[in-house]
Amino acid sequence: MSVFSHPEFDLHEQVNYFHDAKTGLKAIVAVHNSNRGPALGGCRMWNYASDEEALRDVLRLSKGMTYKSALANLDLGGGKSVIIGDARAHKTEALLEMMGRCLESLSGRYIAAEDSGTSVPDLQIMGRHTQYVAGVTERTGIDGQLSNGDPSPATAYGTFIGLKAAVKHKLGRDDLTGLKVAIQGVGNVGYRLAEHLHVAGAELYVTDIHQEQVDKAVSKLNATAVSAADILSLDVDILAPCALGAILNDKTIPTIKAQVIAGASNNQLESAHHDMMLKERGILYAPDFAINAGGIIDIFYERVGHTPAKVTAHIETIAETLAEIFIRSDESGLATGAIANQLAEERFILSTV
Ligand code: NAD
Repeated sequence: MSVFSHPEFDLHEQVNYFHDAKTGLKAIVAVHNSNRGPALGGCRMWNYASDEEALRDVLRLSKGMTYKSALANLDLGGGKSVIIGDARAHKTEALLEMMGRCLESLSGRYIAAEDSGTSVPDLQIMGRHTQYVAGVTERTGIDGQLSNGDPSPATAYGTFIGLKAAVKHKLGRDDLTGLKVAIQGVGNVGYRLAEHLHVAGAELYVTDIHQEQVDKAVSKLNATAVSAADILSLDVDILAPCALGAILNDKTIPTIKAQVIAGASNNQLESAHHDMMLKERGILYAPDFAINAGGIIDIFYERVGHTPAKVTAHIETIAETLAEIFIRSDESGLATGAIANQLAEERFILSTV
């Protein structure tokens, strides 16, 4: 299994393999770029079909974190770790403790946060043996609520701010009163986004595979329930994907009636060319890794001194970053996702801490 000639290898600085026979730990840690600071990113535990698949994931995801943190103007690099194994069957306290020791051996080049297959308590167990875990301290969130480190309120607020910036650019208005917004997925982020939008006077259309989430949005936020099959093609002003990736594709894009797409889901574009397909249809797409950076901003401040006011002020810069992306896209004819990549590269390639 070659790293340097791997299709997802992108000048990564460091790739470490860890194995511990006693606990069964098999993990890979990748640091993509650390020009702006230590590489921070999730620790994913997944039952990969092969080591090759795990390597592909860690290379791809660590690069994504470099771009996300640079675009958010954080003094962080991009990294990711993967533990190979079924989180339900193979995750033990001993394995997590060993993962903590492995992270400590990297001396802070990489800092782990929760991801699919790991939770805040899991990271706290790793933290018995390393200081290089993040998003694990109880703190007052930007919503004023005490939380165990869940970044969802920050992600939802950033998405709301970004959605407003997109509306301003595309529809030329500052207020959301009466605008129709379709939200796919009213979970941790989507429901909180719906709350912000409701307060701002938007008309909400929601779907979720968990009916109780939909019922809550209907009763508390006056939302209209919509079927999962109809949500993307609804006749609304704004579409906010907050559930799944790859939902913007050859099949869905021709059916979208919204003029703005602004939601928190990761990896919304199925392929890179869907970026331009949206632009050609006149749909303004707020690149996912720009608009959903509230969570990583929140986690960053846990390490450097967290006050809700500081975090909120930084999250609000998502609006400026998006405005710059939209203007450059108009001027250059390039799609917004491509511009977001360019802007991120400008922010990390020449940067040194
Ligand atoms: P979540 O699991 O709490 O919410 C997702 C919701 O989508 C769930 O309620 C789920 O039932 C629903 N859902 C799943 N499949 C669906 C479908 N086919 N149709 C309709 N609804 C469906 O997750 P979350 O933390 O709210 O994250 C939402 C998205 O935002 C994810 O893509 C996540 O990667 C991304 N994101 C989250 C954060 C964060 O801070 N939580 C940060 C950055 C990005």
